[in-house]
Amino acid sequence: MKIHLLSQECINQIAAGEVVERPSSIVKELVENALDAKATAISIEIKGGGISFLRVSDNGEGIFSEDLERAFMPHATSKIQNPKDLEEILSFGFRGEALASIASVAKVECISKRQEDFLAHRILVEGGSFSPIEEVGGMDGTSILVRDLFYNVPARKKFLLSESTEASRVEEMVEKLALANPGISFHFVKDGKSRFQTLGGGKLSDVVFGIYGKSFAKDSLEIRESYYPSSLTGLATLHIEGLLGKPSLTRSNRQYEIFFVNGRFVRDSLLSRALEDAYKPFLMQHKFPFAIVFLHLSPSLVDVNVHPQKLEVRFQNREKIYQALFDCVSKTLSKADLIDHSPLSL
Ligand code: ADP
Ligand code: MG
Repeated sequence: MKIHLLSQECINQIAAGEVVERPSSIVKELVENALDAKATAISIEIKGGGISFLRVSDNGEGIFSEDLERAFMPHATSKIQNPKDLEEILSFGFRGEALASIASVAKVECISKRQEDFLAHRILVEGGSFSPIEEVGGMDGTSILVRDLFYNVPARKKFLLSESTEASRVEEMVEKLALANPGISFHFVKDGKSRFQTLGGGKLSDVVFGIYGKSFAKDSLEIRESYYPSSLTGLATLHIEGLLGKPSLTRSNRQYEIFFVNGRFVRDSLLSRALEDAYKPFLMQHKFPFAIVFLHLSPSLVDVNVHPQKLEVRFQNREKIYQALFDCVSKTLSKADLIDHSPLSL
């Protein structure tokens, strides 16, 4: 006989290839779990680029101590029950894969406390085995610590970039998650130093202030436009809102053209083109705008690819989306007073 069934550990490691590519992908999964658990405050702490140490703590619902082991098993989820639920998923997660995958390629400690419990519970998961569950002191919510990423899969560890590059990727990921969730307070700590904090008051401009600092928050224009079913959008409704950096805030690359479609961060050449074309009269060549744009549109106009790692979307009617975004940005820029009145510092 040559054929045998793979061990669960091996199956998990293969599955982990899908979800866990680098520290930033772990952060995304853990933060989405915290959001699903209705957290209002989430802190993310990394050391050594998130490879040696990565912790996400939240003040959400917590996990029942009886569920602590199961949470780390593959295909174990509290978010859906039967195939019908797949048609209307309201949570970020539903595959029940993230924790199992992460724990198969790193050493994990999870401490969780539900509000009704007096003490928190702690479990360690390493190399496919679980420690006994211990009672420990702790606050309401869940904290997941991931250490020594890929310690047991050297082939994948080789593909990680330098610690500083991995750390910047994590930071960018946390920025996007914070921008997409202005109502949630995010705190990002790198190598023991606080990098930024957002207050969770619900205002995008406050989040932008927390992340990018005063100048962007001050030198930006608000956009907010709704398009109802019409010749422009066909049968769909489209809302566009966000902040446009004044042309004085230009950048030398596209990294700060930040788009969210129905709450998900995406990279999309059509959206970039609409934005850049609208900025063209105001920008020098080879300069790019600084803009954060949220598009909300009826699902009939967009296919948000639900693969966890994918950042692409497919629009049903590309020209209409282009036109709407272009119009709305052009209009805002041309109406605005773009002259810098601040005294020249010579
Ligand atoms: P999924 O998110 O797809 O359900 P995960 O592997 O990410 O799968 O998580 C498994 C389960 O563990 C979740 O369904 C949830 O019940 C629980 N869980 C994970 N993280 C948290 C958290 N931060 N707070 C509360 N429960 C959590
Ligand atoms: Mg999840």
